[in-house]
Amino acid sequence: MLEARDRVGGRVVSVDLGNGVITEGGAEFIGPTQDRIAALAKDVGVETFPTYNTGDNVYFRNGTATRYSSSGPLGPVPPDPTGAVEAEKAILQLDDMAKTIPLDAPWTAPRAKEWDAQTFETWKLANVLTPSGRFLLDVAIASIFSCEPRDVSLLFVLFYLAAAGNESNPGDIERLVNTGGGAQERRFVGGSQLVPIELAERLGDRVVLSRPVRRIVTENGTVTAVADGYSVTAQRAVVAVPPPLAARIDYSPQLPALRDQLTQRMPMGTVMKVHAVYPEPFWRAAGLTGQAVADTPPAQATFDNTPPSGTPGILMAFVEAEAARQRLGASRDDLPTRPPSTSPTGRRRSGRAAARSASPRPASCSTTAAPSASPPIASTGPAPRPRRSGTATWTAPCARASAAAKEVLTAL
Ligand SMILES: Cc1cc2nc3c(=O)[nH]c(=O)nc-3n(C[C@H](O)[C@H](O)[C@H](O)COP(=O)(O)OP(=O)(O)OC[C@H]3O[C@@H](n4cnc5c(N)ncnc54)[C@H](O)[C@@H]3O)c2cc1C
Repeated sequence: MLEARDRVGGRVVSVDLGNGVITEGGAEFIGPTQDRIAALAKDVGVETFPTYNTGDNVYFRNGTATRYSSSGPLGPVPPDPTGAVEAEKAILQLDDMAKTIPLDAPWTAPRAKEWDAQTFETWKLANVLTPSGRFLLDVAIASIFSCEPRDVSLLFVLFYLAAAGNESNPGDIERLVNTGGGAQERRFVGGSQLVPIELAERLGDRVVLSRPVRRIVTENGTVTAVADGYSVTAQRAVVAVPPPLAARIDYSPQLPALRDQLTQRMPMGTVMKVHAVYPEPFWRAAGLTGQAVADTPPAQATFDNTPPSGTPGILMAFVEAEAARQRLGASRDDLPTRPPSTSPTGRRRSGRAAARSASPRPASCSTTAAPSASPPIASTGPAPRPRRSGTATWTAPCARASAAAKEVLTAL
């Protein structure tokens, strides 16, 4: 197994916060229907634990924070007074449409051409009329795909929803966005990167790091993968990298035209995670899950990322899609400050909450860009700006970013 980076895991990576505490810079959650990764983790002895999900979530919109239970009638949809019903109706409609998609050939769905001829944004504008209903769908798309609704075809969205199931359970939006019963239900003890690390240990010296494959040559019934200073000849090669990265490899003979075109048309999303670290998960004492949806970018969705021991308290915020794109290449001085509350009510609520809340001590935060921004293979062109990708840990500026997340959670 030739790996470009100097570590295994790819988009699954632990961030060391010191004192034996780690958090996840990349993927961390699994839920029902993710059977294969669950089985793999079990095989290599990595246990899971439930994501903290006790109490209320918070919805912060137009300067007002509202607590709600995700086990309420609208499920994961925040109780927006003007948008929730419309968003829920749209979700049910999308789930029904997803049921018509054959997973092994989505382009053969009865309405595939019509659905692939429009972006999700086009569908949303035609079917959801309220600004808040549209906002809720925007957050769902950014959370699932790390892109904007205008970036993705309706057919692809439906295919992805359908693909969130398994042999016995259909996929739907709820499965993707829910914590309890959904894709965020569980986390890995010791951090998700333990799974690839344990697997790599079992594979031993068959795993070769820091060897980006540049060229794959098929001739005389064998395949040779040529990496920097290293090559492997075998009967077959499995290229297990995202399509746009697969396109950077030079193939001989060339890839079939349709496969080559596919790799040009499957762009990566853009996502960062911000971890605000506190002495305690103070929101738990306030009866909050740590999960919030907010209309105040950069952080539009948060989770309680505290380790199973219960300390330190880690509040993780996703920065996704346009919000993340705008911050690629940011230096510590560019880190966002909390936007002012837009309504007097919001300001009052925020002030009261700040006064009531425990005083958090943000110890560090990390920001991890998606692989689209962290090519494992050196590329030509202008030198990347420092801190463009990978994991960075700051101390002071984190206070500003985490203050925004904290305010969302405590502004009640
Ligand atoms: C911030 C973030 C949060 C996420 N959260 C979740 C989550 O909670 N739950 C979930 O299920 N999914 C989540 N995901 C998605 C999940 O990380 C990916 O679906 C998964 O990691 C894909 O695995 P992969 O092996 O296909 O690709 P990758 O993880 O991208 O691995 C590809 C590997 O190939 C290497 N490589 C690339 N090119 C070459 C080359 N030419 N030669 C050799 N090696 C090469 C790369 O360095 C990398 O190690 C998240 C993703 C991100 C970015």
